[in-house]
Amino acid sequence: MKLLIKKLFGSLPYKYKYFLYDIHKFIKNSPKFLKYYSKDLSEVGMIGNSILLESSGNCQLKCPSCSIGRWSNARKFIGKGYLKFEDFKKFVDKNSSIKNIELSNWGEVFLNPELKDIIKYSYDKKINLIARNGVNLNNTNKEVLEYLVKYKFRYITISIDGATNNIYRVYRRGGDLNRVIENIKTINFYKKRYNSEFPILSWQFIIMGHNEYELPIARKKAKELNMIFLPKLSAFPSIFPIKDEEFVKRESGLGVGSKDEFRKKYKRNYLACKQFWISPQINWDGRLLGCCLNMCGDFGNVFESSLDECLKSEKYIYAKKMLLGKEKAREDIACSKCWAYKEILKNPLKKKDIII
Ligand code: SF4
Repeated sequence: MKLLIKKLFGSLPYKYKYFLYDIHKFIKNSPKFLKYYSKDLSEVGMIGNSILLESSGNCQLKCPSCSIGRWSNARKFIGKGYLKFEDFKKFVDKNSSIKNIELSNWGEVFLNPELKDIIKYSYDKKINLIARNGVNLNNTNKEVLEYLVKYKFRYITISIDGATNNIYRVYRRGGDLNRVIENIKTINFYKKRYNSEFPILSWQFIIMGHNEYELPIARKKAKELNMIFLPKLSAFPSIFPIKDEEFVKRESGLGVGSKDEFRKKYKRNYLACKQFWISPQINWDGRLLGCCLNMCGDFGNVFESSLDECLKSEKYIYAKKMLLGKEKAREDIACSKCWAYKEILKNPLKKKDIII
């Protein structure tokens, strides 16, 4: 039933989908808002029980607009490596209040050779794992795919920007759509065998000039594969710019043909900064980064000290004060070098932006 509602919700046009989503968020988060209303948000620790713990700093593809691929400093900062099961185990044992973990961000989750242990242990500890930020699902094996189903990995967004292999490979360089589809079919096979709705799968399609005409075919294929279809406008519109805005407007269901039009029409501008409170980002090696865009500096190492200590550090609290507009930018804090901070300087975060 829950899955059916999610599927129906996923198939709605953008404006209806997000109208309902906003109402749902408002109802769900209002008690939290009231709880924190009179508190100083720079001093409170985490709000909720979710974190973002990157499972891999490695990726096998060479997508043209990937920051890690384009900027050697970013590559150096994130580092090449993966989340070790021993670190994961110690971390979740020490932080029993954490119940939701997002594993994906810069790297490819399935390149972590200890992923099976992480999935099984999370299931035993009643922790929900998700990979909503996205995976490419090119390289894995049947055993891992069975674990996803058997141990109820909750949600996976698969980045597939094309309905045919030739188009898919223009952007997902080094990838193979046939392999990805085979892996999806294997997951569906196990979902049937275990009679499970998990993991819920979504097909994320970044709309670009070379793939826009495949939108309707991709939507159809996603439906056949029992996936939620999520067309998305590119964050880097100058790379493979859209050619036919009217077609994109119509076929994407977004009702807009560019990011600018999107911002104007929906006044929706997601800022990763709120993750500092609601799901702090931790790199695969334990460095606390705060948000998924930070590639400049950390706030201590949660594997070496503790999550609590890092969240209560002077530097982390100062960063939160900067985001709330209570303190000036400070050189040693990563946000001062981030493009999103320009937005924050004009419109500092408010309680409702963070909690609701
Ligand atoms: S300003 Fe940049 S680095 Fe700082 S929290 Fe926002 S997105 Fe992250």
